[in-house]
Amino acid sequence: MKEGDILGHEFTGKVMEVGSGVKTLKRGDRVVVAPNIGCGECFYCQEKEWSLCDNSNHKGNLQEKITGYPTGAFFGCSHLFGSYAGSHAEYIRVPYADHGCFKIPEELSYEQGLFASDAAPTGYMAADMAVMPGDVVAVWGAGAVGQMAIAGAWLKGASKVICIDKYKFRPNITRAYQKRGA
Ligand SMILES: [Zn+2]
Repeated sequence: MKEGDILGHEFTGKVMEVGSGVKTLKRGDRVVVAPNIGCGECFYCQEKEWSLCDNSNHKGNLQEKITGYPTGAFFGCSHLFGSYAGSHAEYIRVPYADHGCFKIPEELSYEQGLFASDAAPTGYMAADMAVMPGDVVAVWGAGAVGQMAIAGAWLKGASKVICIDKYKFRPNITRAYQKRGA
């Protein structure tokens, strides 16, 4: 990171301008944006492996020295991931917007749409990879992603979910969701 870098990789917002190459969005659209940046056209993007995009991370050679291989770019995640400014700002530029911006349905608020950016897919993916119907599941850490993993475990048919967190209020939030049937 460098002084002045802008963090933030999960966000929603309203489209204020579109570039000439953008085909699926228009000014005024309400969107949720994926944290990883995929061009939509390279081998990996064609395989839906967006986080391995060959074209979005122009600093992949720097990253390769540390990790042994380059990944695609991410918003607000240092210069190793492409040097893209993050979302803790009033405006943000979204490259390859046709592939990373998703319209938020009218009935959902920005806050509800926000979960589709990162927390819900990350937590659900963990459950999808690990949980079989009837499993007893333990989730360590009930922050935003942990709570989505817990919800994912229920969706995958867990018989019991044990939530472990050093803060008492977090498991209580999860219990409150369960009571409301969410
Ligand atoms: Zn790509």
